[in-house]
Amino acid sequence: MSTTLFWHRRDLRLDDNAGLYHALRSGNPVQPIFIFDTTILDKLPKQDKRVEFIHRSLQKLDQAYRNHGASLRIYHGNPTELWPLIWEEWKPSAVFTNHDYEPYALQRDQQIGSWLLSKQSAFYTFKDQCIFEKDEVLKDDGKPYTVFTPYSRKWKAKLNAFYLRPYPVSNYLQNLQKHNPFPFPSLESIGFESTGLGELNYDISDTLLQRYGQYRDYPFLPATSRVSIHLRFGTVSIRQLASLAREKSEIWLNELIWRDFYMMILWHFPHVVGNSFKPAYDRIAWRNNPADFERWCQGKTGYPIVDAGMRQLNETGFMHNRVRMVVASFLTKHLLIDWRWGEAYFAEKLLDFELASNNGGWQWAAGSGCDAAPYFRVFNPEEQTKKFDAEGRYIRKWVKEVDELSYSRPIVDHKFARERALKTYKQALGAEE
Ligand code: FAD
Repeated sequence: MSTTLFWHRRDLRLDDNAGLYHALRSGNPVQPIFIFDTTILDKLPKQDKRVEFIHRSLQKLDQAYRNHGASLRIYHGNPTELWPLIWEEWKPSAVFTNHDYEPYALQRDQQIGSWLLSKQSAFYTFKDQCIFEKDEVLKDDGKPYTVFTPYSRKWKAKLNAFYLRPYPVSNYLQNLQKHNPFPFPSLESIGFESTGLGELNYDISDTLLQRYGQYRDYPFLPATSRVSIHLRFGTVSIRQLASLAREKSEIWLNELIWRDFYMMILWHFPHVVGNSFKPAYDRIAWRNNPADFERWCQGKTGYPIVDAGMRQLNETGFMHNRVRMVVASFLTKHLLIDWRWGEAYFAEKLLDFELASNNGGWQWAAGSGCDAAPYFRVFNPEEQTKKFDAEGRYIRKWVKEVDELSYSRPIVDHKFARERALKTYKQALGAEE
């Protein structure tokens, strides 16, 4: 009997995994594989919490396979170079995997898919990481949405039990290829060192979801789910989360829809990688002062809420959403630094870094995005603090010296910076806005 391969990428779980389910139902024994992709890993520092998270998630995944007499086969290298070797090893009649919408992944899948076909191996891919993808939610005229609210309305109108039904993988696990355990690579053997990363738990309890709408904007409270890294690497199913959200909290459901929205935007408008969604915004004369950028990165701008956010990011790899908006607005508007610099810094530091949402968030803050904050909206860090951290609980947690004389003076005056931003934006946009 020939083998079917299932290639795990951003879906590090067995439960409710669309591609794995289809592979298991295809008739041949299924061998799961994963590739540590050196084209991605080679750009990362030796200590990277995300790689450690992936490594740990793979251990759990492999254990789950071992419980069923199977084992995850892990490779390390450039996928295009590895595939001929993988093919020789298994001679698969088919390879199953789940969709990935990022430009690099699309190109990789296109290349590997065609190569597999040339070897008479089929390549089947499935939607797994979002509820609606690509062209599934379009305007009545057949064009993609570029504004969130009408998109979310159509999204909700289209949603029914069919799209939320879990894939019952556990009913088909007897179709896994039985195999003695493959050696499991250590973190060191793939060129990384442990960062001492703790468990990254998430909270989707009734209590959290019921209070989410009321408390989600207060960065000092543990009032958001922290599920983002799990969605990023697929250690949880989006269908499970969306079902729960539909039942318990429409506001939280809207956040999950933002994630689908940005993935859809990236799919239809891949120029957003590296370019403003609205081209006129690429005429902005950014100041791009490296010293200012460095102070922003280090959390030394003299604006406590901005500094607290950047220090939370640097120390933990996470930043509260409200504060992400404040620091991104501050970088692009107060300091007039190109949003792409901020986007790249977040990409390096965020545990939940995800191209579509990160790009969407940055372009939203800079005003250049599809459904962005208007260019004349310049967040006032003090007002934001009064509204969302009035007692300074979040700020004091991350900026211990905030009340001391040694604390930095503001890098720039708010009123001056606001006017400078408006002038610069107006110059670039001319009559278009
Ligand atoms: P919750 O508030 O519990 O929300 C649940 C889930 O909904 C999140 O895990 C996430 O998957 C999704 N979600 C929530 N808000 C958004 C949003 N605005 N856009 C898209 N999806 C959303 N999110 C990422 O997952 N990766 C990123 O790289 C990323 N970069 C961002 C950059 C900027 C400048 C901004 C303003 C936002 C960014 N976000 C990003 C969105 C948001 O800040 C995080 O998803 C959220 O803070 C994660 O925390 P949580 O899991 O507790 O979220």
